[in-house]
Amino acid sequence: MLRRKMLIPFLLTMLITVSFQQSQDPYAEKRKQMVEDQIRGRGVHHRGILEAMERVARHRFVPSAQRPFAYHDRPLPIGFGQTISQPYIVGYMTQIIDPRPHYKVLEIGTGSGYQAAILAELAAQVYTIEIIPELGHSAEHLLNELYNNVIVKVGDGYYGWEEHAPFDAIVVTAASGTIPPPLVEQLKEGGKMVIPVGSPYMTQQLMLVEKKKQGYTTRSLIPVRFVPFRRSE
Ligand code: SAH
Repeated sequence: MLRRKMLIPFLLTMLITVSFQQSQDPYAEKRKQMVEDQIRGRGVHHRGILEAMERVARHRFVPSAQRPFAYHDRPLPIGFGQTISQPYIVGYMTQIIDPRPHYKVLEIGTGSGYQAAILAELAAQVYTIEIIPELGHSAEHLLNELYNNVIVKVGDGYYGWEEHAPFDAIVVTAASGTIPPPLVEQLKEGGKMVIPVGSPYMTQQLMLVEKKKQGYTTRSLIPVRFVPFRRSE
């Protein structure tokens, strides 16, 4: 008897909790699906990355007109001719650098701030540089609201961020014709950098750069398409 009396309040509480969670984040289901189909389904198995991508509200990183498409399998425009990378590319690049909880990571090309958010979920400290002031400032605003381990700077990422070097890993999210020497310089020995290399507006190669005791090695990973790496005048 007592049990039955308790069942109804219990079910009511469950119902309220579930609907509250859904009203809190109407995209939760879409995000779960995105991780299953586009990330895990395509071979990203790093558990921390899968969990981070399920946690981070990607729709908050895109302009409101793009929100309905936030979990689609493609890059999206974020203004100023720039894009937020396709979810799979974010997962793949993150897996390549294999972030550890003690890592200090540098990102070049903050854009929407989404890749920085995924890194912030997994590493100790994230530094990110964006060349377009408006994008840098809006990403900074959102990232500051969500994390206390991300620092955004507006500037030309070609030169890296000397003051905080060396980095355990560097993620470059704009396509460069060559690998900027200052970035290799600022990588820790044994550290990894992932960078799209090739001509702008064409297919580029995503490259893995590994810093050695002397010099560095490079390896081609997959063909990609990124917006161009710009230079400040
Ligand atoms: N990581 C971003 C992807 C943004 S697209 C995201 O998750 O949304 C790449 C970004 O690199 C663009 O915003 C572009 O303005 C920026 N960028 C291009 N050249 C740069 C440079 N030299 N230094 C810093 N940012 C640069």
